[in-house]
Amino acid sequence: MARTSPLLCPTCGDPLVFEILDDERFLVAWSCVNCGLIRTTEPV
Ligand SMILES: [Zn+2]
Repeated sequence: MARTSPLLCPTCGDPLVFEILDDERFLVAWSCVNCGLIRTTEPV
């Protein structure tokens, strides 16, 4: 399940999409559908 977030891609400025990988560790994959940027990090 992917959702759009209020965060913007630092490269192209499009809204990032995030997908929760691990609820217990708050591990989230952030991705940009426009330029393909992918990050795995914790939400801040
Ligand atoms: Zn982007």
